[in-house]
Amino acid sequence: MSGRVMIVDPVSTNRIVLKVKLLAARYQVVPCVDFAEALGRLDDEKPDLILVEASQLSAGLADFCAELRRGLRQPDIPVLGLGHFSDSYARLAALAAGADDILPKPFCDALLLAMIRGLLRSRDEARDALMSDETRTALGFAENSSGFEPAGSVAIICDDELGGQRFGQLLNGLRAGQARTMTPIEALELRGKAVPDLFVLDARATLAQNAADVVYQLIADLRSRTETRNAAQLVVLPAGSEAMAAMALDLGASATSTSDAAPEEMVLRARTLLARKARQDRVRDTLKHGLEAAMTDPLTGLYNRRYAMSHLAGLAERAVETGRNLAVMVLDIDHFKRINDTHGHAAGDQVLVGVADILRRNLRSIDLVARVGGEEFLIAMPDASAEAARAAAERLRQKIASSDFGNSDAGALNVTLSVGIALGNALGNANQVVGGRSGIEELIQSADVALYRSKAAGRNTVTLGQSAA
Ligand code: GH3
Ligand code: MG
Ligand code: MG
Repeated sequence: MSGRVMIVDPVSTNRIVLKVKLLAARYQVVPCVDFAEALGRLDDEKPDLILVEASQLSAGLADFCAELRRGLRQPDIPVLGLGHFSDSYARLAALAAGADDILPKPFCDALLLAMIRGLLRSRDEARDALMSDETRTALGFAENSSGFEPAGSVAIICDDELGGQRFGQLLNGLRAGQARTMTPIEALELRGKAVPDLFVLDARATLAQNAADVVYQLIADLRSRTETRNAAQLVVLPAGSEAMAAMALDLGASATSTSDAAPEEMVLRARTLLARKARQDRVRDTLKHGLEAAMTDPLTGLYNRRYAMSHLAGLAERAVETGRNLAVMVLDIDHFKRINDTHGHAAGDQVLVGVADILRRNLRSIDLVARVGGEEFLIAMPDASAEAARAAAERLRQKIASSDFGNSDAGALNVTLSVGIALGNALGNANQVVGGRSGIEELIQSADVALYRSKAAGRNTVTLGQSAA
């Protein structure tokens, strides 16, 4: 994995030793003597992660982290604190100061590299979701960085009776009802709303039975299942199991902790992971809503033209693969201008919403319905014969013609619809050969020609395009 790691350490031999290790693992390295130098070089060097000698520089760590996260400077850059921490409370202080994780010296290189990989991975996941700053702005994503107490639910996974008791401090540190305990089996059978935001995996009892594989399997299973893949994982290991911690991180754990950690450390880690998870959830939700908005027509809720064209390309590809038909219809409301002129634009809008509703409710779920112009709609029906497509169009035409789109204020409001259909398949034995961009455009054009015939024939009519053969 490539990446740029900034080292902040006042001791030159420490910087050199770390640099050699990181270079060997293909990282680029930016060594700095203190926080002032690090902050000064931040904008030019743009590191992906910062390694801080957190025991010797402990005094300035909180200010440094605050400065990093301030504004839009480097809000998501991970900070890993290394050091000879005198006791578990010194480790806790480094975490409380804002380090994303800590690694007590002496450590094994495998664990250092696994922690770097894990921190970069979780930052990249958040960044990938955002895609780019422009996308973030376009989708209206506003970072909510207020220091509120993170909500979210916690499940402690332990496979012995005593498990719950070992986490008394964690349970006390969280809000009432926020945490519960479960067995590994229960964790893998969770569905929907019951999935917690954070799993605390207590591996100590399992490891006492020499069953590391069981722990690894559980981490990987939780990470790979659709239901639980986004939940954070904190894995609690016996003290001194560094190689296992490295493996756990590489398999997808968000962080690890050891049984000799101060009880408050567990609470702090749980809160940090919950806050990070909440932030990632917000990014995912914003993205989902943004994507929905980008592909739907706000008035009718139908897909818009842009989405319809790309979806149609996919349907055409599938039609080529399967050798089945693809029917395309273009539908246009007759004399719609008159509705606006007579009853007003709002009444016109109401008709559009009503027509869209009828189209949506009278087609199969696999059919594509889109509003592609002012009063023009497009429908694509995979695997439909000419007769089936014509029957569907005829049914829609009749439903629209017999519906009243008015209300008590406007009185009765009736419209009719003209439809043009074109049928394509890969074999060329329908009226168009589907496939490729030009194939789709020709199919739509044929449907347009058929629509024009429906209009010329007096409107309120369905026309199936003539076979080219
Ligand atoms: P034809 O039977 O030949 O299709 O006649 P038409 O009146 O339906 O067609 P024309 O293209 O002349 O007029 C379409 C009208 O649709 C003109 C435009 O003002 C109206 N329109 C387009 N978009 C909207 C919209 O979002 N809301 C409303 N209320 N009207 C719209
Ligand atoms: Mg019209
Ligand atoms: Mg029109």
